[in-house]
Amino acid sequence: MNINLKIVLFLSLIFLHSNNLISQDQEYPKSFNIENKLPNIIFMIGDGMGLSQVTAGTYSNGNTSSLEEMEFVGLQKTHAHNRLVTDSAASGTAMACGEKTFNGVIGINSKNKKLESILEYCITKEYNTALIATSSIVHATPASFYANVISRRQYEDIALQLRFHNVNYFIGGGQKHFNRREDKRNLVKEMEGEGYTIVNNINNYKNSSSDKLGFFTYSDEPPQKSMGRKPSLELLVEATLEKLKSSNKPFFLMVESSQIDWGGHANDLPYIISEFKEFNIAIKSALEYAKSDKNTLIVVTADHETGGLAIKKGNLKKKSVSGDFTTIGHSASMVPVFSYGPNSKLFTGIYENTAIYDKLKTAVDQTD
Ligand code: MG
Ligand code: ZN
Repeated sequence: MNINLKIVLFLSLIFLHSNNLISQDQEYPKSFNIENKLPNIIFMIGDGMGLSQVTAGTYSNGNTSSLEEMEFVGLQKTHAHNRLVTDSAASGTAMACGEKTFNGVIGINSKNKKLESILEYCITKEYNTALIATSSIVHATPASFYANVISRRQYEDIALQLRFHNVNYFIGGGQKHFNRREDKRNLVKEMEGEGYTIVNNINNYKNSSSDKLGFFTYSDEPPQKSMGRKPSLELLVEATLEKLKSSNKPFFLMVESSQIDWGGHANDLPYIISEFKEFNIAIKSALEYAKSDKNTLIVVTADHETGGLAIKKGNLKKKSVSGDFTTIGHSASMVPVFSYGPNSKLFTGIYENTAIYDKLKTAVDQTD
């Protein structure tokens, strides 16, 4: 082949390739963010939901899940500042606040500096905000978005920090940390005296027009789904989206399926699967909203894997799986990140859990 022909071929290859890249890039964002407004963000965390948990849940659900409708998939590395295997406080802090910290610590970095969470950053951009968890609202994962404490066990301090926070809507268990406290303060009364409405059932939550509204689902930790936990996570998500969309402000909503992790600690696969199935329906509700809204970014991920689970047997037709656990604790496996909507492409690749914060912030800033 003569040298000129080689150059022509080489250039035409580059041209074809770059053309291809450009057309892909151009096609993609057109369907989203038409008015260039700040995006809504729905950040959904399956605590302890590693790839095996997703696999078990998907096969048990008839070989399908709403995660298959997400546009992009990535992987995040979950190690803590001081340990290869993280806990939910350090990993929650990494995702919510963008810095690695010690296991057990919430919203404070390894140099003892208090951190601002992505939810709090969104508040500075005039977002409405909401938190929903199927654990108590003062548990490590939701607390990572509003609290700064040295120990995740400081439940009463965490409750006090929520009492002084500007979160618009919150739903979770753990009311006792607010109204049956060692310091005898009644934070429910205090909050009600300062513009918050606190309710204990879904109808009162739905019917309230307050934009500072808390719904305590249980006094203590809520029971598992198969033991009758109510209301369902999708109902909570739908009722909250109903409120958030009625405002003309953008919103940040964090939803945690908290107990996939507890099923992992108990090495109880049916527990994991029933929690996953509920989470799956809540994700479907969020996706339906995002598809009609077209300016909502959804990110679904886990804070870490729990149980070191491997699926070893199963039957597709019977929708059954079985497997083995290698620990009653967490494992260091990377966990998947699924994304949909404006800037969802940012979440592809392999990155540290702290990058979740950076990417969410970029998604807000790029349309600012
Ligand atoms: Mg959690
Ligand atoms: Zn755990």
